[in-house]
Amino acid sequence: MPTPVSSPSEFAFELALCSHLEETTDWLPARQLGAAVASPGSRIIDICAVVPGPEFDERTAITEQDIPARAVESSVGAGKSVFWRDAFDCHPAQARRATDHAVEVGFFESEFRRGREYVRRAVRYPDDWFSKLVGIENKPDLGSPGDLLRQLRLDVSLALFDEVVLATESYVTGAHLNRIPDAVGVWRFDPDTGAKEIVREAKTLPTGTTGVEPVEYHSLHTDVALVSPADKRTARIRLAERAYGKGWRQYDLPACAHASVDSVGRPVCDHFGRVIDPGAECGKSCAGFDPADSPEFDRASLRESRTRWVSDPSGVTRRQSGLGRFF
Ligand code: SF4
Repeated sequence: MPTPVSSPSEFAFELALCSHLEETTDWLPARQLGAAVASPGSRIIDICAVVPGPEFDERTAITEQDIPARAVESSVGAGKSVFWRDAFDCHPAQARRATDHAVEVGFFESEFRRGREYVRRAVRYPDDWFSKLVGIENKPDLGSPGDLLRQLRLDVSLALFDEVVLATESYVTGAHLNRIPDAVGVWRFDPDTGAKEIVREAKTLPTGTTGVEPVEYHSLHTDVALVSPADKRTARIRLAERAYGKGWRQYDLPACAHASVDSVGRPVCDHFGRVIDPGAECGKSCAGFDPADSPEFDRASLRESRTRWVSDPSGVTRRQSGLGRFF
């Protein structure tokens, strides 16, 4: 008999909340993105939701992928082409990567002169394409908080997100609320019914000012790094762009006869009768594993049908290149 699961895993909770946000808001949720600046990789936010701004449609017209933040912040302009390396204020390897990706997604156009690559912007970057970034940390069971308070304190003092929310399935007591930083909003969410109660509203964080990022914790003190408003701006563009390109359904599906995908794109297993976390649960070590082809899954069509993300825009570069042939 399959093992019954009494409480949903954090993975299933996270997917249910992403799906709920898609259904009830115009936000674009994405999962598991880096949300630290001075010490990249030290803070991964469970969900980053991008709230569309007035220029959202201009952004969707450029590419379905992320546009590299370094390219957006570079001095590559729309007029005269410049030698790619002269336009970046970072390590040449990072500049090279940003240039290649910007060309690939149609944000830069490039040409070669005497073996050197020159680039120019193919399109204006719509700065107001997003109006807010909401960081959501999931902790279905507040009884095992782990690093939760430390993570939320970092989010508030760094203020990379406009709002930070703790989402839980647990009953939230006054004692919990007292411990959670004041600015952090609290949602109670039931992943089975989709019912969401706002226990406490999130406060708006000062994203335009210097942030304080804890980088090393010692028993009696914490080392911090100051993150300038300019570095925060770049990090926010990077976060928004990665969220736009990635979304929340980027998991591999198991090559198992019991696996399928439900109507909102969650991986489900008919052996256990629930949403599964393929990376953690599937494979030869699972008692129900029955080798087969992975289920088919058109992530792009599903995401496009449920959000304002556009899966295959015609692309500004291609249009302009096409026009260029006639002039
Ligand atoms: S390996 Fe197959 S039976 Fe096991 S959890 Fe994954 S889908 Fe279900």
